Amino acid sequence: MSRTAVIGVAPLDTSEQLDQNAPQVPGSPIPQTSGDVQIKYQKRARAKFFSLQLARLLYSVGGPLKWQYGRSIDCTRNIVLGTDGKTRTHYCGSRWCMVCNRIRTARAIAKYGPVLDDWGDDAYLVTLTIVNRPGYQLRSAIQEMGKAFTSCKRSIIRTHKMDFEAIRKLEVTYNADRNDYHPHYHVVVRGHAQAIALQELWHKFAPTRTSESAQDIRQMDAGGRVEVFKYFTKLLTKDKETGKTKPPDPHSLDAIFSAIKGMRTYQTVGFKLSDYQDPEDEKLLTESVDTIINHYGEEASYVWEQDYTDWLCSESGELLSGYEPSEAWRDFVDAMISEESDGIQPPQEPIPRSIAYYSKPYLAT
Ligand SMILES: [Zn+2]
Repeated sequence: MSRTAVIGVAPLDTSEQLDQNAPQVPGSPIPQTSGDVQIKYQKRARAKFFSLQLARLLYSVGGPLKWQYGRSIDCTRNIVLGTDGKTRTHYCGSRWCMVCNRIRTARAIAKYGPVLDDWGDDAYLVTLTIVNRPGYQLRSAIQEMGKAFTSCKRSIIRTHKMDFEAIRKLEVTYNADRNDYHPHYHVVVRGHAQAIALQELWHKFAPTRTSESAQDIRQMDAGGRVEVFKYFTKLLTKDKETGKTKPPDPHSLDAIFSAIKGMRTYQTVGFKLSDYQDPEDEKLLTESVDTIINHYGEEASYVWEQDYTDWLCSESGELLSGYEPSEAWRDFVDAMISEESDGIQPPQEPIPRSIAYYSKPYLAT
C-alpha cells in the first residue's frame, strides 16, 4: 500500500471553508492579533455564542446527558495567553458543541484526506439508509445497522472474494413532521464493484424501504468529502416552506445524542489509518498553535462574556476577537431560550475546577 504525500501541519482552519455563515471581519483590525488568528477567533466566538445557548437549552431538558451538557457551558470559557505568546484553553469535546465540531471536522478531513487522496478515482460514496424510527427505537436501530454492515462486509470478502476497505460515517437526522428519526451511513468505499456489492447486500441485511431502491452510489469528489466529514447531526435546520432557520429543538437533539452515547460516528473498515500517515504527522496535527503577536512575553487571561459575544480580559478590558454578531443572528440566539427559562446555569462547579481543566490534556488552540 503506497503511502501518500502528507499534509504538513494540518491547519485546523480547514473547517472554516465549511462554515458558510462565517462572520464578516470588521473594518478596523484589532491590534493585538495577527489577521488570520483574529478571523479564527471571530469564527470561534460566533460558534461559542451559539453553543453556550444550545448547551443551556439542552441542560434544561435534563436526561442522562445533563451533566455533559453542563460541562459544555464551560467549553473554551477561559483562554490563557501564555508568556510564550501561545494561547491555551480547554474543550468539552461534545458532539453538540459547535466550537468543538469545527475542530473535529478539520481534524477528520486532515486525518482521512491522505487515504482519500490515495484511493483517488477508486473512491465511491454510498449512502445506506433504513426505515425511519421513533426516538425510543433509535439506539437499537443504530445497533442493527452496525450488525447489518458487518454482514455485508463478510459477504463481500467471503462470498464475493473481494477486498473491502471503507470509511463509514454515521449520521442521524430528525423529521419534525413525522416526529421520527433517520439514521444513515455515508460510506466511502474503495472500488466500484465493492460499492455496488455493498449497496445490494444492504437491502438483504438491513430493514430498508422497498420503495427506496435507488440508494445512490457516486464517485467521491470535493463535495462528497464535505458531506462525509461535516457534523454528525445538523444542529440547525431550515424550514422547508419559509426557508428560514428554525430554532433548535432540544428534545429531538437530546434523543439523538442520548441514543449514540458511547458510539463511534467514524469507523475505518479493513485498513488502519497508520498505513497512510507518518506518526510524525499525527503529532503535528495536535500541536498546531496560534501566536498572538503583541502579547509575546506577557500572560493574559480572557473569560467568555455572552453579552459581549467575546472573551474579555478583565485586567486590560480588551476583547480577544472583536466579533460582532449581526442583529438577526443575535436575536435568533437570544430567542433560543425563553424569558421564563432564562438564567439556566449548570450546578455550581459541577466538578472541581482543577479536575475539569486537567482531565483532558490542554489542547493548543
Ligand atoms: Zn466544546
